[in-house]
Amino acid sequence: MTNMLYDALFAPLAGRETPLLILRDGREVTGDAFLRLVLRQAGALAALGLGKGDRIAVQVAKTPEALAIYGAAVALGAVFLPLNTAYTAAEVEYFLGNATPRIFVCDSGTAAALAPVAERNGARLLTLDAAGRGSLSDLADGAEPLARVAACGPDDLAAFLYTSGTTGRSKGAMLSHRNLLSNAEVLVREWRFTAGDVLLHALPIFHTHGLFVASNVALLAGARMIWLPGFEAGAVLAALPRASVMMGVPTFYTRLLDEAGLDRALVGHMRLFVSGSAPLLAETHEAWEARTGHRILERYGMTETNMNTSNPYEGERRAGTVGHPLPGVELRILVEGREAAVDEVGMIEVRGPNVFVGYWQMPEKTREELRPDGWFITGDLGKRDADGYVHIVGRAKDLVITGGYNVYPKEVELLLDEVPGVAESAVIGVPHPDFGEAVFAVLVPERGTALEAGAVLAAIADRLARFKQPKAAVVVEALPRNTMGKVQKNVLRESYKGWFAGQGEI
Ligand code: ATP
Ligand code: MG
Repeated sequence: MTNMLYDALFAPLAGRETPLLILRDGREVTGDAFLRLVLRQAGALAALGLGKGDRIAVQVAKTPEALAIYGAAVALGAVFLPLNTAYTAAEVEYFLGNATPRIFVCDSGTAAALAPVAERNGARLLTLDAAGRGSLSDLADGAEPLARVAACGPDDLAAFLYTSGTTGRSKGAMLSHRNLLSNAEVLVREWRFTAGDVLLHALPIFHTHGLFVASNVALLAGARMIWLPGFEAGAVLAALPRASVMMGVPTFYTRLLDEAGLDRALVGHMRLFVSGSAPLLAETHEAWEARTGHRILERYGMTETNMNTSNPYEGERRAGTVGHPLPGVELRILVEGREAAVDEVGMIEVRGPNVFVGYWQMPEKTREELRPDGWFITGDLGKRDADGYVHIVGRAKDLVITGGYNVYPKEVELLLDEVPGVAESAVIGVPHPDFGEAVFAVLVPERGTALEAGAVLAAIADRLARFKQPKAAVVVEALPRNTMGKVQKNVLRESYKGWFAGQGEI
């Protein structure tokens, strides 16, 4: 019986006496022990009726047992559906209602609030961390390990992964065994992963980055993972001496740069630092290289496609770019239906075995974004430079159209960020009675700096065409970010939508 993902990621753990997971307290879980846990959980879940094609949703803290549920779902041919631990009961209600999982696993701390939600949506509730009735851990302890792994081919679904909801309501991306395995295979090769690697894993496992990039790659390579429950700078610094690779979001890097303990001696032995999920500022890139001697490898991906591009392992890792399309992944940039010229901004589309099957229960949206010939319209704007490096310029939804002119927020943000005293900025379009939308800047001062919005705008005035200049700016303490460190421009747009109201009537 073959099961594409199980055979590649989990079956090879049998008999492995070296650690798969190294926990923060020093405890280790060997590959073999992990696989036994996977198969016992699968046995318990099968006894509850979970089978091929059924969905299992989880909203749990990041533990070895949490990762094991992913393995158990794959072994059963079920569809794994991880949910962000930050979601409230009301948000979970949407996901359970949308995906109608047979089983929903949560932690004991949230079980009371989530029990009625699970019941209303026909899902059987289990807890993971606590002992007692309805505990998956208890059921697994008493269960016979799954005897027969479900047969699954390339087109069978392995997961529904909900997008981060940065631009609107989260969509459930249906991902097949082929989608996940093809990407893991490419990344192992491109990033030179081997069984000797130790991956510092501080990312959440409800998102594509931590689950399908980091964990799948380490599992496929037979590597170890230092399994941290979340990002905490002190714990990461303490773990770095044992690691060889770290994958992170840009905020990991900026936060580590605030730590006095970060230096060449600490990370000189490291093989690779990878960044993705949000743009890494050139400034962070340079500061990291100056402090550590390492050049971060930036890549670009999304829930619907796993990874699309990567900077080269060998060769120039170009700051401000996401590198080249990965082998097997096609990427094109379209402007009004034709391919963009060098340095011309257009809409990024990708095609390849990594591209998802469609959005769950959203046939319209699927048709809008996934062309019949396989090209996926990413919604990201980008350009290619003369050397073929892809630059992400922003999201099409964030494009500001003011008085008929297009303004790419990133171009303005980069200039604002250079003004002394500005730590970071976000540029948005807000409704304006004359211009339709006006360019508006939200500025964050460097620590201990008093920033005057008007002076910042004056400082960039002679460097930008008039229509690109922000018509107004505000200074705030921090930008709203979601758990993956993405700036939530929809939140900003909502906050400032009334700013120019009535101005046209003067
Ligand atoms: P939603 O689709 O629900 O609005 P989301 O697009 O933020 O949320 P994800 O799939 O987690 O959900 O994120 C993918 C997006 O993240 C990409 O489309 C892109 O805009 C951004 N992204 C990922 N990596 C990078 C990167 N290296 N540089 C710039 N942007 C990136
Ligand atoms: Mg998206």
